[in-house]
Amino acid sequence: MMPIVLPSYARAPVSFERGEGPYLFSADGRKYLDFTSGVAVVSLGHANPRLIKALTDQAQRLWHCSNLFEVEGQKRVAQKLIDHSFADTVFFCNSGTEAVEAAVKVARKYQAASGHPEKYRVIACGGSFHGRTMAMLAAAGNEKYLAGFGPPAEGYDHVAFGNLNEMRAAVTAETAAVLVEPVQGEGGLTTPPEGYLKGLRQLCDEFGLMLIYDEVQSGMGRTGKLFAHQWEAGAEPDVLATAKALGGGFPVGACLATEKAAAGMVAGTHGSTFGGNPLAMAVAEEVIDIMTEPGFFDHVNRMGRAFRTKLDRLVKAHPTIFAETRGRGLLIGLKCVVPNTEMVTRLRAAGLLAVGAGENVLRLMPPLNITEAQLDDGVAIIDAVARDWGHAPH
Ligand SMILES: *Cc1c(COP(=O)(O)O)cnc(C)c1O
Repeated sequence: MMPIVLPSYARAPVSFERGEGPYLFSADGRKYLDFTSGVAVVSLGHANPRLIKALTDQAQRLWHCSNLFEVEGQKRVAQKLIDHSFADTVFFCNSGTEAVEAAVKVARKYQAASGHPEKYRVIACGGSFHGRTMAMLAAAGNEKYLAGFGPPAEGYDHVAFGNLNEMRAAVTAETAAVLVEPVQGEGGLTTPPEGYLKGLRQLCDEFGLMLIYDEVQSGMGRTGKLFAHQWEAGAEPDVLATAKALGGGFPVGACLATEKAAAGMVAGTHGSTFGGNPLAMAVAEEVIDIMTEPGFFDHVNRMGRAFRTKLDRLVKAHPTIFAETRGRGLLIGLKCVVPNTEMVTRLRAAGLLAVGAGENVLRLMPPLNITEAQLDDGVAIIDAVARDWGHAPH
């Protein structure tokens, strides 16, 4: 019989009642250490008291009023994002895929508005993930996700991630933009070679292309800076999409752009019913405030380095189980030798929640305010599961 909730997810057979910091408590009373953070969303931990206060204070006043009117919260959040990035202007939506799609619209509109309507194609990378709308499936070009949904949306070309020569060779007179994740998340925590993003910036300048970063996963502090591309000097984009951790668990996305890139986005060109509603803005403002407090990113970077050292040790100790450590900051994980799906299952049985990624990678994304003792607890569980691997799981 058809499940009453569409079975489009491969769900683990566990549900949670309550969360607190990096812990989740299941309906049957078990406590789990959560290194999924809701797939890089709950980056300030579950039931964060400051986010609860921001949300509930706003909930007493006003939930929704539509973009027919001024939304003051949007101005505050936009200003804070602008203060900490390349951007001059921000559009708010509700999810990652909408944010990337808005970014592509901005890039195409820029070309059309500056006299080049023939430039509409976007070059993206193999192994990328940009969400599940029809256009963003085509943008990522992953055959597995496109299968059965008809002809892919037109206008996307694909090259290997990390290869500047291939990118250059793919540029044509119809190219509008380049779209990349500074660190590929779903694809397998793939980091590009040093200088890649700066090279893309130069390439885009040379050919008059818009540079778009999908920082839906790598953004909002995950790599130890607000946005992952900020690790590389001279690599600023024209347009950037972010979402996941922006609302700390409240659904919200944002498309950031320079004044030049967004010049064509006049009234009527884009919109969203829910995008940037007062509840979302109240939480996003508090998230940004917390992340930009002095010392916050120092902590993320300290924990990122410590975690990497500990994971490297696990790889050394269990070479038949793990191949290497992947990723950057706390967007990190282990490429497995054994099946990553089986590893996720066994870790869950042992009390640690993790998430798979492409290339047989195990993603370990604790909240950014994790402590080193909590990291050690997680590492001890992974170590024990790896040590017992040859024995049947209970
Ligand atoms: C998760 C993700 C998306 C899609 O976000 P949704 O909120 O699921 O629409 C897009 N791009 C990247 C890089 C992501 O990690």
